[in-house]
Amino acid sequence: MLAILHPNTPLDSDAYRETLHFLENLPGVTLRVHEVQGATQKLTEIYLLGETKSLDRDEITALPAVERVIRISDDYRILGRHKDSLRQNGFSYNGVTFNQENLNIFAGLCAVDIQAHVETMMSTLQQHGQVCTRMGAYKPRTNPYSFQGHGKGCLPWVFETAGKYGIKVVAMEITHESHIEEIDECLEKLGRPTGVMLQVGTRNTQNFELLKAIGRQRTYPVLLKRGFGITLNESLNAAEYLASEGNANVVFCLRGMKTEAGQPHRNMVDFAHVPTVKRLTRMPVCVDPSHSVGSRDRAPDGILDVMHATAQGVIAGANMVLVDFHPKPEKALVDGPQALHMDELPAYLEDIQLCHETWKKRQAIYKDLRGPTAT
Ligand code: PEP
Ligand code: MN
Repeated sequence: MLAILHPNTPLDSDAYRETLHFLENLPGVTLRVHEVQGATQKLTEIYLLGETKSLDRDEITALPAVERVIRISDDYRILGRHKDSLRQNGFSYNGVTFNQENLNIFAGLCAVDIQAHVETMMSTLQQHGQVCTRMGAYKPRTNPYSFQGHGKGCLPWVFETAGKYGIKVVAMEITHESHIEEIDECLEKLGRPTGVMLQVGTRNTQNFELLKAIGRQRTYPVLLKRGFGITLNESLNAAEYLASEGNANVVFCLRGMKTEAGQPHRNMVDFAHVPTVKRLTRMPVCVDPSHSVGSRDRAPDGILDVMHATAQGVIAGANMVLVDFHPKPEKALVDGPQALHMDELPAYLEDIQLCHETWKKRQAIYKDLRGPTAT
């Protein structure tokens, strides 16, 4: 059960104290208090866990600080939808809004290599009105002898360059909790020229201690990749780990599933799950067409499979695209063969925009046919 308090209820008010005192004394119930900072107001949500079936909903609604009470299922308590369309979906970070209606594009380098490539990438993004990018500094690699990323050493010049070109959010995978501090210290030292979205890679989707550590900090939002060999439910529960520790600013990323059946793609593209994740949870949904398709193969219509897969995700309502680009793919240290080229960026952005507009039009043509299951 979830008790949502009146907006901006002070935690030192009598109403709050009285409410908390009542709830704390319910037998067999433990509480978890969660604060949601919206654009204009702060919401406090109190999750009642344990023996909640026999609780009287009206009695709790009548408590002085409580605005309303929702019965929630066991799954995805914080991030789930629970047939309640009033709860906030999405968040803003460093001036960029992430929700289930809009769309942000994170085109960038799979792995940071040299300064000139980072500079070309970011200046081109700025020329095309983009304020987000992806930059891998810590790379999880299959082969221990492969390039592992420049790590901490590249952060100062990556972040400075981002600031120079007006990049507001850099998606950056971390593979160990110590990387949070490395990123935070570096940004702080530089006066925070940009922001970072911490990325949890598909190999770490169920690294629960890493999830807990990332969930404990609230400074940086999180991009959680779906696990490549586990069920959707297991991956959504991994996202819930972040929220249960306190950080609900999570974007969920589909990146394909590992199976021979996906060949010749690197992974089986799973973007039909975009609307499914939006139905089950309030998270914005990202698609990563680069790591799911994994090649620059082109269909007879002249369009790359990566671009087709992107279109499939966006036309189904994806809210973020994470995609590999490289100014000199033949020189890339990681995943060069799947990278899109800089001269493909304008057409790609136009294609994405077209698909996003089409998704909105698709909603309009179905709006009079909304069935009882629509939320
Ligand atoms: C990546 O985005 O750089 C990456 C390694 O992706 P994934 O974790 O989905 O393989
Ligand atoms: Mn990669």
